[in-house]
Amino acid sequence: MNTDRPKIVLLYQSLLGIYGDHGNAVVLTKRLQWRGIDAELLTVEPGQPVPTDGAVYLLGGGEDTAQITAVQELEADGGLFTALDSGAVLFAVCAGYQICGKSFTIGSRDEAIKGLGLLDTETRRGPERAVGEVLHIWTQPNGNTCPITGFENHGGWTELGSDAKPLAAVDTGWGNGNRRDEGAVQGRVIGTYPHGPVLARNPQLADHVLEMALGCRLEPLDIPEMTALRQRRIEAVRTGRP
Ligand code: GLN
Repeated sequence: MNTDRPKIVLLYQSLLGIYGDHGNAVVLTKRLQWRGIDAELLTVEPGQPVPTDGAVYLLGGGEDTAQITAVQELEADGGLFTALDSGAVLFAVCAGYQICGKSFTIGSRDEAIKGLGLLDTETRRGPERAVGEVLHIWTQPNGNTCPITGFENHGGWTELGSDAKPLAAVDTGWGNGNRRDEGAVQGRVIGTYPHGPVLARNPQLADHVLEMALGCRLEPLDIPEMTALRQRRIEAVRTGRP
């Protein structure tokens, strides 16, 4: 990875781009640039080689069938695996999170499709679709808790094996489907369900991803408008008036 000009690599928006999660890549790039770090945002589509020297790779939410194509393309290219072996971070949302696991199912079909195997998770169609505003409680590396806001919209429910740890605990919403835990973390791969984009709504999580990728602490960056907006979303979910 080149830390002089960190690359934020947004993968496969034409497949996994229907929930606005590309905003996560913009947020990561901007939060580095606002600190004077010359970050670069790269977008990669299926058929284009995935660069292996990125700092952070991002996958977003999308429709069921697009997930299968994304797995096939990423497996065939291989660049994402090389990058992760070299220390990059992968931040994946919803459909992107599901495909990082060992397997997932599509729509009403029972057949399990092999995932990328980056997370010890399995996703199956749940008895209900998980839709709505969420509030999750994330425990930061320093032990402090931080509320995470966003919205979820998924039919797949995800179970974690022993190698994956939940990203957060559920306060409001379905999370992985059990209403108890949300997302998964394994090594330098983070999977999560909320859209929003989640890193725009939760700058603390954005900086955590960046600090993991760059291997250093970043100076605090408080944007009052963002803090106020975030507080409104937290209040809206807490008072049941999203
Ligand atoms: N298709 C997947 C599901 O419904 C993911 C949806 C999404 O990315 N929001 O479970």
